[in-house]
Amino acid sequence: MEGIQSRDSRSRRSQGRRRRFTWRDTLAALLMVAVCVSVFLSIGSLGKKAPASDLPKPSVTGLPALTIPRMQSRMPVVSLTRNAQMEKKDTDWKLILVNNQNAIPEDYEITLAELPGGEKVDQRIYAPLMAMLEAAKEGNGGQFPIVVSGYRTQETQQFLYDDKIAQYQNQGYSPSNAKQLAEQWVAVPGHSEHQIGLAVDINGAIYDIYPWLQENSYQYGFIFRYPGSKTEITGVAEEVWHYRYVGVEAATEMYEKGLCLEEYLAEKQREGNEPKKENRLRVRRMSPGAQRPSLAA
Ligand SMILES: [Zn+2]
Repeated sequence: MEGIQSRDSRSRRSQGRRRRFTWRDTLAALLMVAVCVSVFLSIGSLGKKAPASDLPKPSVTGLPALTIPRMQSRMPVVSLTRNAQMEKKDTDWKLILVNNQNAIPEDYEITLAELPGGEKVDQRIYAPLMAMLEAAKEGNGGQFPIVVSGYRTQETQQFLYDDKIAQYQNQGYSPSNAKQLAEQWVAVPGHSEHQIGLAVDINGAIYDIYPWLQENSYQYGFIFRYPGSKTEITGVAEEVWHYRYVGVEAATEMYEKGLCLEEYLAEKQREGNEPKKENRLRVRRMSPGAQRPSLAA
């Protein structure tokens, strides 16, 4: 009540001093403009690194809202992956999905290590791979199995891809049929696990090496990546020689549940969307009837 009275009395007094008040009004308005401009500039500077074309046209009403959506949309997928890696650094790189639908990220970095025989792999899988190959001697007549194809450059993958298409065309297939057939065997360049150094093609002295690998590779973190029973999902014909590193935990779960990588990742995604985390089963015991990758024809 007191406030209202004093404001009333001030406004009555102001009638007699209209001229001074006009100046004060002008000053206040200028101050307001200055404040608005500085707020606008400081908000604008938050997004300095964004290309100018990304910026929505500034408008006073849009100001508070425009920074947040822009910063979210500017964030590339790669950054999100990196953020996630900070939380679970150790598993993400192992579970990267590369297939004909999922290309290798453009800025994917790799540090290579050379294997006996000259092929190379991501250095992070060197030790488990060597351990597996050493153990695999028992399924290979006592001989150390050979990695015949490890890391491939884009150029190598392109050569293999073009070559496979040419082979089918030479057999009389039309270019489009030849391409379709070739892609069941050789991944489209930019879409091969060999290009991320996490996959190897293994040759043994005897065929027994492959059943041995199918039963034991998970213990070393490797999976039989393209079983014939999963061709419809993977898009790749059975390749008994191709092994992919995913880490022991994931490999064990895939082995025990009979899942290929695509199925495993889909399951993880579903579990991630479920609210009750405590109900998740990380590793299940093998049941006698559990589906397993097998040597299909
Ligand atoms: Zn391969």
